[in-house]
Amino acid sequence: MELIDIKSLSQNELLEYITKMGEPKFKAKQIFKWLHKGVESFDEMTDISKSLIQKLKEKFVILNVKINKKFVSKIDGTVKYLYSLNDNDLIECVVMKYLHGYSICISTQVGCRMGCSFCASGLFGLTRNLTASEMLSEITTAQKDLNIRISNIVLMGMGEPLDNFENTVKFLKLVSDENGLNIGLRHISVSTCGLVPKILELAEYNFPITLSVSLHAPNNEIRNRTMKINHKYPVEELIDACKKYFNKTNRRISFEYAIIDGVNDSKENAKELSRLLHGLMCHINLIPANPVKENSYKTPNRQKVLNFQKALTDLGMNATVRRTLGADISASCGQLRNRNK
Ligand code: SAH
Repeated sequence: MELIDIKSLSQNELLEYITKMGEPKFKAKQIFKWLHKGVESFDEMTDISKSLIQKLKEKFVILNVKINKKFVSKIDGTVKYLYSLNDNDLIECVVMKYLHGYSICISTQVGCRMGCSFCASGLFGLTRNLTASEMLSEITTAQKDLNIRISNIVLMGMGEPLDNFENTVKFLKLVSDENGLNIGLRHISVSTCGLVPKILELAEYNFPITLSVSLHAPNNEIRNRTMKINHKYPVEELIDACKKYFNKTNRRISFEYAIIDGVNDSKENAKELSRLLHGLMCHINLIPANPVKENSYKTPNRQKVLNFQKALTDLGMNATVRRTLGADISASCGQLRNRNK
């Protein structure tokens, strides 16, 4: 019999199993709390009887990640973990320190099948989806190792969260559970390369998260060249979905725009971008494109980035430049991968 991934269960689902085992209801809450503290084994649950622990072991498995390697940036203290999963697949995750606390960038898949031309995460395609429990464990494992409490989460590591929709939704519910990590949805950003039907589906949940959309181009001509997904969901459809998302959730959308030297950084591009986003409550996050050795894109110099930002703000747009963290350990946007090379 295949063991059930216990940490991906909601407290109510767990309660059903526990009741069927003939155990008192309150055990479910106790077990749930232990799991979300990041225990590695049922034996660590000190207020659970030996006989129940035995029953749990027969039915369930606790899926956790393990630290395979740890890299610490000498520039800004950013930490990148290479984690191993139960089946020895590898993922990466990054912990960043900000004035307001610690933020973690987690992976949602092993690899990625979106194939954006500038990104390292999709170079080897998709291996598999992460479970909600594995995503949670990315957080608890880092918290334990660094002895900190993480207050903000971005689903911006390897993988496309909306291509792993069901587990991502489970994760969002679990991570914000008051008996779990209890991290408020307002402190969580979910990033997508633009899976239009899934953006609309997510809107129905009305989570107070921030939706980040990886736009990276002001028109179809450029976006078709750089992002494969645009052939399926062109810019107009994507922006239309964003408008619907905003109308449903009332949450301001954040657009990511990686500035690639000579590709999408002209004054005309800034104008097109402002026309495209006109009338939409949003914020533009400018990211100087980070180097990925397998492609030939170039990082723009600082002045070009500032010029592009000024062009946008002069047009009345809300645009800021994202600080690059962890540059010396390949921990920046688009540099995470599922192998240690
Ligand atoms: N699949 C989701 C989540 C990944 S988030 C998404 O596409 O949004 C990672 C972010 O880094 C995305 O905005 C991605 O487009 C961006 N990115 C990828 N490669 C990059 C690079 N070389 N430089 C800067 N940003 C990059």
